[in-house]
Amino acid sequence: MLIRSKSLVNSTKGSKTLFPNNVKTLKQVEITPVFVEEMPDKIVQGEVYISKKYHTSRHLCLCGCENLVIMPLDDGRQWWQLVEKGEKVSFIGSVGNYSFLCKSHYIITNNVANFV
Ligand SMILES: [Zn+2]
Repeated sequence: MLIRSKSLVNSTKGSKTLFPNNVKTLKQVEITPVFVEEMPDKIVQGEVYISKKYHTSRHLCLCGCENLVIMPLDDGRQWWQLVEKGEKVSFIGSVGNYSFLCKSHYIITNNVANFV
């Protein structure tokens, strides 16, 4: 199950930087990174599934609306870049779920989604 196709991507990649200090956070939601080879059928809210094999990541929108967010991974040029620091993960590139009703926009840094 190799997902690189643009049409399957719900999210819009926004800013390239990690969470900047000067942006006001609306709310913070903790996430749990789960490293997998194949994406599981059941995606649990609050868990971010990462497949290095297929360079992709999935989670349910962290606002709680349960829409599936698919984030392809690369070196950050076209898609999101995964940064691991021990047990903590960050994604370079914000997650903009503008196609969902919730219009959530957040940046995942050190296992915390900062809504902006
Ligand atoms: Zn949402």
